Amino acid sequence: MDFSKIGRMFIGGKWVSSNNTREIINPSNGKVFAKVYEGSPQDVKLSVKAAKEAFAQWSAASVTYRADMLFKIADLIEKNSRELAEIDTLNNGKPLRDSLGDVADSVSCFRYYAGLIDKPLGQVYNVADPNTQSIVVREPIGVCGQITPWNYPLMMASWKLAPCLAAGNVSVFKPSELTPLSAIRLFEIFEEAGLPAGVANLAMGAGNTVGREISENLEIDKVAFTGGTVTGRNIMRSAAENMKNISLELGGKSPCIVFDDYDLDTAIDWALFAIFCNQGEVCSAGSRLILQDTIYDKFLDALAKRAAAIKIADGMQEGAEMGPLVSKEHLDKVLSYIETGKKEGARLVCGGFRITEGSFADGFFVAPTVFADCKPDMKIVQDEIFGPVLAVQKFHTQQEAIDLANNTKYGLAAGVFSNDITRALKVIKAVRAGITWVNSYHPTFAQAPWGGFKQSGIGRELGTFGLDEYTEVKQININLAPGKVGWFA
Ligand code: NDP
Repeated sequence: MDFSKIGRMFIGGKWVSSNNTREIINPSNGKVFAKVYEGSPQDVKLSVKAAKEAFAQWSAASVTYRADMLFKIADLIEKNSRELAEIDTLNNGKPLRDSLGDVADSVSCFRYYAGLIDKPLGQVYNVADPNTQSIVVREPIGVCGQITPWNYPLMMASWKLAPCLAAGNVSVFKPSELTPLSAIRLFEIFEEAGLPAGVANLAMGAGNTVGREISENLEIDKVAFTGGTVTGRNIMRSAAENMKNISLELGGKSPCIVFDDYDLDTAIDWALFAIFCNQGEVCSAGSRLILQDTIYDKFLDALAKRAAAIKIADGMQEGAEMGPLVSKEHLDKVLSYIETGKKEGARLVCGGFRITEGSFADGFFVAPTVFADCKPDMKIVQDEIFGPVLAVQKFHTQQEAIDLANNTKYGLAAGVFSNDITRALKVIKAVRAGITWVNSYHPTFAQAPWGGFKQSGIGRELGTFGLDEYTEVKQININLAPGKVGWFA
């Protein structure tokens, strides 16, 4: 990607500019390294118009054609893996190995939905009347507005666009204003693959202008959103105006429960991964560690030592394990939560500061932070911090562990570590969350549904559930004994 050129939007199959531009910052050094055109509500309206025009042809296209198109897109993403990963690392800050993983996930997402399109779909019902045969089919919803956050720029775009296009819908897509670059490159790939004009449109700009227009536009049939719970609530309100279909993937404050029968070193390894991978900027991060009292002190000691040894660096640097936070604004938010934790009386066992020495001076780096002895009502236990800050709590009985785990408004993810599989299963079944792991944390697969309970969202992405979210269900009743109904004389 040529960063000296201003990144454009892609509407109706054409690259378009606007009167305003936005500077894109590398969070590792705080420097502007690219610019993009800033769109407006008008660009959303133009995108909707283009999408509506493309819908008839795309929704009626053969499944083989649509599948071939998605396979071609997957191949092109794979071919350009390194470039796409570097774009996300420069733009978001995450280490290159994380970005490469995101690209691989995006490839498998497009391939999965390409492969799913021509599989058996629908049902045949034998209804009460033997002379009626009911068949149930799934049809595309229409124009889908899709809005994504900055933490997994390419991957979130893929999770949204692949199932949407697979099901025969058309899209008006808005990436986060902070991280639009890999989406621009993805739309170049769409163009190269030959995706018909208007099927997918890229409208860039701020959440409160472009994002708001997407959620309010009466000609958009569905909004699929990933982001914060507050924004999700606003989108839900706007969607009420024309009864838009909505799916919301929101925040979390997910528990990772460790019992004393599990190998300590292995559990520490997973607990670190659960919270510190992707700088903790993960909706499903294991940001609450719930430890059995019998291992509490020993576990914490070793955890703090390992957390302090995590290699923090510019994401482009070889061997970087954790990069900077995405922006100065987000850095300030995370630092203010760290101050809150100290004031609330949680015990800081490692980190708790911004890293500013030498080459870190202008970047947005925060040391991996662990607070112990946290109480259930503390803000650092209840609020999603979305950074490398872990809140640790102690439990004695299995029921206490479950109660602590369920004690937030969120219900996105959860993990439990125990060698007693009966206990592990009982605990995980009692935890109110949509994505759970036993003796593991974080692995995600295109084949399995992703989404949360409670205030963590509505609907599911990925898997067959993810495709269903982009379809309407229609029943077709066929009269096998044609004749008059005879209801009125
Ligand atoms: P935000 O909710 O602020 O933003 C998400 C997206 O919504 C961005 O594209 C943003 O635009 C846009 N947006 C902001 N305001 C509006 C509005 N009024 N109407 C329509 N769109 C709007 O979240 P963040 O970007 O800060 O992302 C972090 C959040 O995302 C965390 O809470 C995290 O848990 C959640 N998340 C959830 C995931 C899940 O699968 N459940 C996965 C990843 C993140 P812009 O950025 O341009 O302002």
